[in-house]
Amino acid sequence: MKTTTENPDILVDNFGRRVTYLRISVTDRCDFRCVYCMDEVMQFVPRNSLLTLEELATIGRAFVELGVSKIRITGGEPLVRRNIMKLFGDIGQLPGLDELVITTNGSQLTRYATALREAGVKRINISLDSLNAERFTNITRVGDLGKVLAGIDAAREAGFENLKINAVILRNRNDDEILDLVRYAASRGMDISFIEEMPLGVIGDHDRAAAFISSDEIRAVIEQDYELVPTAATTGGPARYFQVMETGTRVGFISPHTHNFCERCNRVRLTCEGRLLLCLGQEHSVDLRRVVRAHPGEMEPLKQAIRDSMAIKPKGHDFNLQEQPLIFRHMNATGG
Ligand code: SAM
Ligand code: SF4
Repeated sequence: MKTTTENPDILVDNFGRRVTYLRISVTDRCDFRCVYCMDEVMQFVPRNSLLTLEELATIGRAFVELGVSKIRITGGEPLVRRNIMKLFGDIGQLPGLDELVITTNGSQLTRYATALREAGVKRINISLDSLNAERFTNITRVGDLGKVLAGIDAAREAGFENLKINAVILRNRNDDEILDLVRYAASRGMDISFIEEMPLGVIGDHDRAAAFISSDEIRAVIEQDYELVPTAATTGGPARYFQVMETGTRVGFISPHTHNFCERCNRVRLTCEGRLLLCLGQEHSVDLRRVVRAHPGEMEPLKQAIRDSMAIKPKGHDFNLQEQPLIFRHMNATGG
């Protein structure tokens, strides 16, 4: 593949990987405090350090002009950012963007599902780790399961092409719900992905190593009741998908520890402060807020900074649950 220097209209890193996917964390704030994602007490980015919605849209446009065809809006909880639908409206209209998608905890979907569909969002990932109300509140520290389930129903009624559940399974906390979650998703025609917990940020009251369950272990539990057939389906990302023969839906596994996916990496992440992260599990980054503010209204300096960033995209992550995290930013600040 031609590199970015040979073809300035696409993004290719030093390992020949083409970047076509941008994840934008529009806020690090959230109405939940999931035990694996955040510490109980968090220091959030001050509001005056945030990129404005206009700056976020400008950066999104620069990426699309450089061949990015998929943008995911995430956070923190993206739907708690004020006036967020304006950003969906602006990005949804960019020529060349094939997919605008969102990851949400579902708490605000009764309010926003229809507007998201109208803005051109075709697919939503909704996080759901338990179907037991008390346990759900324990894992999220504050969340209300009823609100999230109502949000999922609202999204189903709004007519998205695809709704997918994301679940993080923690040993002795919700590992007895693996099959219930698969059944819940399948009964509503939804796919489900299980994500291995990643050591992002220091978390006081949660032992990541003790809670860790591998994708292979989860898969073995599902195979007690269902036949899983590997599919070639890929979102160009880390998930490996299996067809559930009995239901016609799919189960995916995102396995940063046990099935490393870095060699196929096609993505970068933008934090709400405008830091472009070149790898989920490393600190290599470029300050795009500085560029966008130094050259208001100009696309070329921004696009050049993005092209240049390809030179420092690392080969891969280096996660190790046994050690203190090398990465001090939590998932909510990363754009998971
Ligand atoms: N608030 C939204 C939500 O929960 O869907 C979007 C942001 S959240 C950071 C995105 C996804 O990251 C969620 O599915 C969540 O379960 C997952 N996540 C958060 N912290 C994680 C961690 N340390 N390891 C693995 N997945 C994590
Ligand atoms: Fe909030 Fe999502 Fe993190 Fe849970 S996983 S605390 S819902 S950002």
